[in-house]
Amino acid sequence: MSEEKKELSAEDKARLKAQFDLPWRQELRKSMPAKDRTKIQRQKMPERPADVRNADFLEVNQGLSAQAAQLEAKRCLDCPNSPCVLGCPVSIDIPSFVKLIEKGEFEAAARKLKETNSLPAICGRVCPQESQCEAVCTMKRASGVSVAIGNLERFAADYERERGKVVMPRLSPATGRKVAVVGAGPAGLTVAGDLAKAGHQVTVFEALHTAGGVLVYGIPEFRLPKRILKAEVEYLRRLGVELRLNFVVGRTATMEDLKAQGYEAFFVASGAGLPNFMKIPGENLVGVYSANEYLTRVNLMKAYDFPNYDTPMLVGRKVAVIGGGNVAMDSVRNAKRLGAEWAAIIYRRSAQEMPARAEEIHHAEEEGIEFHYLQAPTKFIGDESGRVQAMECLKMELGEPDASGRRRPVPMKGSEYVKEVDLVVMAIGQSPNPLIGQTTPGLKMGKWGNVDVDWKTMATSIPGVWAGGDIVRGGATVILAMGDARLAAAQMDQHLKSLGKKQG
Ligand SMILES: Cc1cc2nc3c(=O)[nH]c(=O)nc-3n(C[C@H](O)[C@H](O)[C@H](O)COP(=O)(O)OP(=O)(O)OC[C@H]3O[C@@H](n4cnc5c(N)ncnc54)[C@H](O)[C@@H]3O)c2cc1C
Repeated sequence: MSEEKKELSAEDKARLKAQFDLPWRQELRKSMPAKDRTKIQRQKMPERPADVRNADFLEVNQGLSAQAAQLEAKRCLDCPNSPCVLGCPVSIDIPSFVKLIEKGEFEAAARKLKETNSLPAICGRVCPQESQCEAVCTMKRASGVSVAIGNLERFAADYERERGKVVMPRLSPATGRKVAVVGAGPAGLTVAGDLAKAGHQVTVFEALHTAGGVLVYGIPEFRLPKRILKAEVEYLRRLGVELRLNFVVGRTATMEDLKAQGYEAFFVASGAGLPNFMKIPGENLVGVYSANEYLTRVNLMKAYDFPNYDTPMLVGRKVAVIGGGNVAMDSVRNAKRLGAEWAAIIYRRSAQEMPARAEEIHHAEEEGIEFHYLQAPTKFIGDESGRVQAMECLKMELGEPDASGRRRPVPMKGSEYVKEVDLVVMAIGQSPNPLIGQTTPGLKMGKWGNVDVDWKTMATSIPGVWAGGDIVRGGATVILAMGDARLAAAQMDQHLKSLGKKQG
């Protein structure tokens, strides 16, 4: 799944330059010399104490105060080349929104964010800013510590939502053209928002009974409260987007059926919801879950809120989570909150190679999660009733880098050991959902079960069908899914407008 290297478009460059030259921005820059800005400490995100939060599901991060946000915004040097914008997959005009916060114009900052990112309260919480916009921040080069761009994004979006001052954008005149979006995750919701604003009639078809994709069934309440997602979905409804829930495209109706119903452009955003397994003995024992099922039961079906919700859920005392990504962190932190005495990450490489966000690893460590590096299970052992009671693991050492660039784990002969466990969660990756490929003749698929696209346009092999997010990339990130969606939406808009306004 190769991808085009990102560059700012000529339009983005012109937009940033025009903002940079605005008189209020010039004045603000003059109001404090850069050397004084570098002396301001990065403002810490207030967090709930680890020994309290690891027993409940309330949000861990509490958000910056207005005063802290303004101080943090002063740390931005407002540099002319704005590398942070290039580091952002949706090219948010970061310096402009940050400087609006410095000025105290918090709602204007939120509006600025929404020009390019329809889900800022979500991105401010879950994006890996440390490896994107914050990684290339000029303040990081100047002082060693980047501007807390993600925390500021969250602050502005929360400020706007909590004060009920969400301003609806002006919609383009209705074109009468019908768009079908498959899947209501971040990619599908982003396309829906952009095309509704452009005047098209958008319907999102979602297999589950609620919208949000991984944001609702995967990422836990303590990282992303569901009320925030609900507000974002409500915003889309107010833009005129229709949501058809419990609708499995490929089963309830195929894309060809929908075309016959008058849909003229399609965006496939059905994600990567198919769990991967290791294919080792004992994976089908009772008590061995895929992370997808485990998290879906806890989050979407609210097993954590027992007895208000009576979703069946095995609660382990000794829980091993296999994997080292965000999915593994969410699973293990859930297990701890559900009452595990021992909850551990079993990861086959070392801490350095672990793909989870630094903040998630740090929070998990604080909450009492154990990390066992350089080991992997070889089999799970059941009791006479078929329930998992132990796992056999093998120790690893790191060899040469593999195709991912990370050092390959090499098993150490004779290092097997057995560990008692009563619940295991497999969090070793997800693959794209196969249904759309299987039910859409002519849709070219890649070798990993992903939909093949032209990365410059996100167009698929079928004219009038675009795709983006995890169905194209495999398990990736929210902001990359949204970046694909924005690119596709611009192309789809052009295509629909080229058809002209529909009469009647
Ligand atoms: C537990 C977990 C934690 C994560 N944490 C982070 C994080 O902290 N930061 C980050 O950036 N990323 C994170 N990710 C990755 C991120 O959530 C995904 O990359 C992102 O959600 C992909 O968006 P998407 O819209 O492509 O797909 P999804 O979010 O998967 O949405 C796809 C939607 O399509 C629906 N669908 C599937 N098939 C059909 C069909 N045939 N008909 C109708 N609907 C269908 C699904 O039900 C789903 O609602 C995490 C992922 C997981 C699983």
